[in-house]
Amino acid sequence: MTIFEKIIKGEIPCKKVLENDEFLAFYDINPKAPIHILAIPKTNVKDFNEANATLLGKISDFIKEVAKEVGINKSGYRIISNIGKDGGQEVPHLHFHILGGAKLKWENLE
Ligand code: 5GP
Repeated sequence: MTIFEKIIKGEIPCKKVLENDEFLAFYDINPKAPIHILAIPKTNVKDFNEANATLLGKISDFIKEVAKEVGINKSGYRIISNIGKDGGQEVPHLHFHILGGAKLKWENLE
């Protein structure tokens, strides 16, 4: 079981931002920006490659709600989904990083 499944089940605590029947958003434990939230589906989907269009559409709407909830929808924010080894994915459960709260740097990531 991944750490995110344990968070969904409530076995590991999280600082929750928003939740509905299908998705959960909570603050990243190791923030890379003043606001760093993870949005995840409650179903077990390994990564972006495994996600179908319906799920991606719904999680997109959820992410927009999260951005509004924390007040970064107008100032702007960044969404990242790391995929696999080269993408730097550590947790094999689909998640979107929602980053904001400052003007974010955009540099060569190599
Ligand atoms: P990845 O590298 O897989 O794209 O991102 C995984 C993210 O999950 C990392 O940013 C990491 O800080 C975060 N993370 C790992 N374990 C926990 C945890 O137990 N609680 C929370 N809130 N975030 C976690």
